[in-house]
Amino acid sequence: MRTEQDTLSFDITPNANPMPEADRLEAFKALGFGTLFSDHMAVIRWSADRGWHSAEVTARAPFPMDPASAVLHYAQEIFEGMKSYRTADGRAVLFRPEENAKRFNDSARRMGMPELPEELFLEAVDKLVEIDAKWIPEGEGSLYLRPFMFANESFLGVRPAREYIFCVIASSVGPYFKGGAKPVTIWASKTFTRAAHGGTGAAKCGGNYAASLIAQAEAAQHGCDQVVFLDAAEKKWVEELGGMNVFFVMEDGSLVTPPLTGTILPGITRNSLIKLARDEGMTVHERLYSFEEWQADAASGKLKEAFACGTAAVVAAIGKVKFTEGEFEIADGQTGLVTTKLREQLVSIQRGRSNDRYGWLKVLDGV
Ligand SMILES: *Cc1c(COP(=O)(O)O)cnc(C)c1O
Repeated sequence: MRTEQDTLSFDITPNANPMPEADRLEAFKALGFGTLFSDHMAVIRWSADRGWHSAEVTARAPFPMDPASAVLHYAQEIFEGMKSYRTADGRAVLFRPEENAKRFNDSARRMGMPELPEELFLEAVDKLVEIDAKWIPEGEGSLYLRPFMFANESFLGVRPAREYIFCVIASSVGPYFKGGAKPVTIWASKTFTRAAHGGTGAAKCGGNYAASLIAQAEAAQHGCDQVVFLDAAEKKWVEELGGMNVFFVMEDGSLVTPPLTGTILPGITRNSLIKLARDEGMTVHERLYSFEEWQADAASGKLKEAFACGTAAVVAAIGKVKFTEGEFEIADGQTGLVTTKLREQLVSIQRGRSNDRYGWLKVLDGV
């Protein structure tokens, strides 16, 4: 039987009042992260009886929402983060968008939400980038894309909702960390954890972030940029930052990164860096690494570099680690050579400056 979903196509209604070009270009002079939004959004709705329906690209606008909307009470919400770049030769590209589409459905399953056919996810993203292509900054900036889905049934009972909204919005962004590529200081929280086995650590859901904010605030109080979480069971093993995976560069040139055991978000940046590093002949160990080991290796000099990675910041060197009992520096607190090299290799593929040998770029035709 053919359903509405099988023949779904996007209705496109351009924004009647887009931001004037002069204002946009003025705003581009001081790009931050996640404050400047494009003119449109892509939306697809789901209900139990109709499946996916009403796909559209329209002016970015608020959603009218009932106070009993399920997401406001039980936080059934997931999201993705990806970027569109303008290459030096003028193409608009996306980096491994199919991976975001797949991970989105992994998150959806974990949260009891309907899966969105990958082609619809990708079409929504493409259509938004197409209509808002002028929002992709040139140079070092990019257009950050935020696909997300939330439960929108008005119902206070506790069960997966029967209505959802999928939406993609876009934000022109500059560097994630203010102050450029200088190494970050991170706070190792011994008070708060992020994810337990059987929990939602591997899903990209808003709830994980809600639970991490107090630790992030604790980090800020101690003058740190980010928080690194230890495992929930033993508070011993290094897991990841609030929104980034973590790597360690050893004296023998090998890399260590915590394994994907269900409590860590499987980052696409993480996966890409592992591939790049292995193809460079580096050994990458996906293994448990304890906070004690980290401290000891930093002190002995066995640890040469550490960095965090994710779509937003790409690769950020970790210069110093603070925790309740003290602090330690990694090497001399500067950005190391391996970190710099891996970052440059990844960025040059993402921005179309080097050969796309893995087929990671999706070029948007005519954009
Ligand atoms: C999104 C995210 C990452 C990074 O994933 P990328 O696909 O590399 O952007 C890492 N950790 C958490 C908790 C995340 O939400």
